Amino acid sequence: MRTVFGVFGNPIAHSRSPNMHNAAFRELGMECTYHAFRVSPENLKNAILGAKAMGFGGVNLTVPLKQEALKIIDADPLAKSIGAINTVDFKDGMTGYNTDGLGAKRTLEEKGVKIKGSNVLIVGAGGAARAIAFQFAKDGANITISNRTENKAIDLATDVSTVGFARGCGLDHLKDFINSSDILVNCTTQGMHPKTEGTIATAEDMHPELTVFDIVYNPLETTLLKEAKKAGAKAVTGEMMLVYQGAEAFKIWTGVEPPIEVMKKAVLEGF
Ligand code: NAP
Repeated sequence: MRTVFGVFGNPIAHSRSPNMHNAAFRELGMECTYHAFRVSPENLKNAILGAKAMGFGGVNLTVPLKQEALKIIDADPLAKSIGAINTVDFKDGMTGYNTDGLGAKRTLEEKGVKIKGSNVLIVGAGGAARAIAFQFAKDGANITISNRTENKAIDLATDVSTVGFARGCGLDHLKDFINSSDILVNCTTQGMHPKTEGTIATAEDMHPELTVFDIVYNPLETTLLKEAKKAGAKAVTGEMMLVYQGAEAFKIWTGVEPPIEVMKKAVLEGF
């Protein structure tokens, strides 16, 4: 009998996680299968307890369940400080993890971009920004969080200051902040399908030593990344963050290093 894994969320039909994980299981010849399940927040507790009772190997959680899960499951310290869980492991009871920040870290490392000691400007203060800000601050970056709703940036920076250096501000003077940054990370929905013309910055705001990492992966080359190329900056696309957060979850569940290239190919199918 195959061990079942899954992703819970709502909406969930668009998820690329089943393709990605099933491709990895097939490649490694593992007797496992991964499915998407539509679960609303009010049913999350029953769904998780049901999955555990039925012997699932583990589950991923996505919008709108990541924060809700913390009320239900014990989490590791990083997930607790981020305030969200995206991976649940059933080996010793139930433990929650958050692998989004690690996914972002591995994406930049793969491109030869150094995080430790860098000035990182994160634009946005939602769920993804929280995960990346905590991970990069822990890794020794100096973090500036800039958000349309300034209070949210200041609150997040206060939280992140418990693990490293962070400050928060609004979107005014973004160009000045970009000027003094080594890495710019877009964690807003700007530029995402269907409003693909949106961008948080243009080429005139950037400099050639800058790395611009857009975690939006639909489309793969966003307007922001086109602008980064015009400025001679390094442009990093967002799909590998999805692959690496999945790879970290795969390792937590199975103890096995998954085939990254196979997972990447499965994610890119359909773009
Ligand atoms: P979220 O929690 O809803 O946060 C959205 C953020 O975008 C907020 O900071 C919001 O600012 C900002 N924003 C929205 N519209 C804006 C606008 N017109 N101008 C400036 N800022 C704006 O979303 P999330 O879960 O963090 O996800 C953010 C993006 O990252 C999405 O596109 C998602 O698909 C992508 N993502 C990618 C990966 C990956 O693996 N590559 C993983 C997670 C997320 P306010 O606070 O002012 O509303």
